[in-house]
Amino acid sequence: MTWEAVIGLEVHAQMLTNTKIFCGCSTTFGNEPNSQTCQICIGMPGVLPVLNKKALEFAIRTGLATNCTISRYSRFARKNYFYPDLPKGYQISQYEHPICEHGHIEILVDGEVRRIGITRIHMEEDAGKNIHEGTGGYSFVDLNRTGVPLMEIVSEPDIRSPKEAAEYMRKLRSIVRYLGACDGNLEQGSLRCDANVSVRPVGQKEFGTRAEVKNINSFRYVEKAIEYEIKRQIKLIEEGGKVIQETRLWDANKGITESMRSKEEAHDYRYFPDPDLVPITVEQAWIDEIRASLPELPDAKSQRFVSVLGLPEYDADFLASERATAEWFEEAVNLGGDPKIVCNWIKGEITKLLSTNGKSMDECPLRPAHLVYVLNLMKDTKINANAAKIILEEMYKKPEDTHGSFSLEIPKAIFRLESRVEQIIKEKNLVQISDSSEIEKIVDEILAKSPKEIERFKAGDEKLIGFFVGQAMKASKGKANPQMLNELLKKKLA
Ligand SMILES: [Zn+2]
Repeated sequence: MTWEAVIGLEVHAQMLTNTKIFCGCSTTFGNEPNSQTCQICIGMPGVLPVLNKKALEFAIRTGLATNCTISRYSRFARKNYFYPDLPKGYQISQYEHPICEHGHIEILVDGEVRRIGITRIHMEEDAGKNIHEGTGGYSFVDLNRTGVPLMEIVSEPDIRSPKEAAEYMRKLRSIVRYLGACDGNLEQGSLRCDANVSVRPVGQKEFGTRAEVKNINSFRYVEKAIEYEIKRQIKLIEEGGKVIQETRLWDANKGITESMRSKEEAHDYRYFPDPDLVPITVEQAWIDEIRASLPELPDAKSQRFVSVLGLPEYDADFLASERATAEWFEEAVNLGGDPKIVCNWIKGEITKLLSTNGKSMDECPLRPAHLVYVLNLMKDTKINANAAKIILEEMYKKPEDTHGSFSLEIPKAIFRLESRVEQIIKEKNLVQISDSSEIEKIVDEILAKSPKEIERFKAGDEKLIGFFVGQAMKASKGKANPQMLNELLKKKLA
C-alpha cells in the first residue's frame, strides 16, 4: 500500500516587543531567573492585564503579510493549564475569535510552487520555564518568559512531506523577520513549532489519527521528527496496530519521537472568555495604515530580482530570503555592480567570511561599496579573483581602516577605501600580471617541466588543461591574468 502523510504545523513566534503582552516587564532573553516578573505576569489575585498595542500590531502585520483576514472583533480566552511554569493555572490565549484567519503562503519545493493555507493566527502569552537539570534533585521555575507575547500561526493540514514542512517554516521565519515582528532565533526558542502528523492510504479522503510532536526548534529537526513520525505510524498500521491521538516529544539525541501524554482536546482546556480583558476592536483605518507600511516581502522581492535583474530563480530566492542580504545586494547593484556577479560573491566569499566569524549578514562589516570597488578593479584587470578574495578578507578583518565614516563623508570615505585597497595590494603584492611576455615565460617553464603531461594532453586527455593552468597560476603566485594565461596555454599546446 502507498501511504501519504498529512501534516499541519503550529508555529509559535515570539513577538519583538520590549515589554510583555499584558504588563510592563522586560522581555530581554537570558537574565537572572525571575528578575523580570510582576504581580500581573505571575497572576496574583486582583490584578488586571492590559494588552500591549505593539503585540497587536505585530500580529496584524503578520496576518496581512500572510494573506489573512484581520478580525475587526477578537477576544482573549483563558485556557486552563496545570503546570508549574504558569502558576496562575491558566494561559491567556485566543480561541473562538482569533485576530487573523483564512490566510496562505506559498513555498517552492523541488521546483513546484505549493500553497499552504493558514487557518488562524492568534496571540497568547508564553509560559515560564521549569529547570530540572543541575539543580541537585530539586526543580526550579523561572518565570521571566511568562507573559512574553507569542503569535501562534496554525496551518491547514496542507503539508505533504517533511521537506515541505521545513520549507514552510523557513518561509514563515523569513516573513516575520522582514516584518520585524519576530527575530526568528530558533536556538533561543523565539521560533518553534509543533507538528501534527497523520498518514492515510493514497486516495483516501479521511484523515488518519494524528499525533502531535511538540517543541521542535530547528529546520533540520522538523524534517527529521516528521520523517520519523511518518515511518513510525506506517509501520504501526501495517503491523496491525493503531495510531493513538497523543502528544509526543522529539528526542534529538536518539533521533526518535516518544510518547509524552495523551493528546488534549479543546474541551480539556475548558476555554472561556477572559473576563479581565475587554474584547479587541480594530479600526479599518488602522489596518489600512499597517498594510501601507508593510515592506516588500520575500516573494515579491525574489520575483523582481528575476524579472528586473535577470537573476535565476534559485539565486533570487537565496538573496530575498533574508532582508539584510537582499538590501545589501540591492545597494551593491545600485552602486553599479553586475547583479549575477554580486550575487555569486555574496553566496561565495562573503558568506564564507561571515560563517567563519559566526556572523549574519546584518552584522557584516563589509559594505556593498567595498565589494563593488574590488569588482571594478577586477573588471579593469588590475587584480584577479584570487587577489580580490584576499583584499575582501583584509578589509573584513579591519573594517575601521576602510569605512570609519563611510555614510557621513562620502568623498573622504571613498578616498579611504581607495587608499586602503592600494595599501593591501602593495603589502600583499597582488597586482595582476598582465604583461604577456612575463606570462609567456611562466607558461614556457611549466611546459618544459611537464613533457609527459603534454604527451597525454595531445593524445586526447583534455582535462589536463586544468593541471597546466593550476601549475602556471601557482608559479605566478596567483597573480597571472587568468584569461591571458588560458589563451597562451591553449595556443602553445595546439
Ligand atoms: Zn510583569
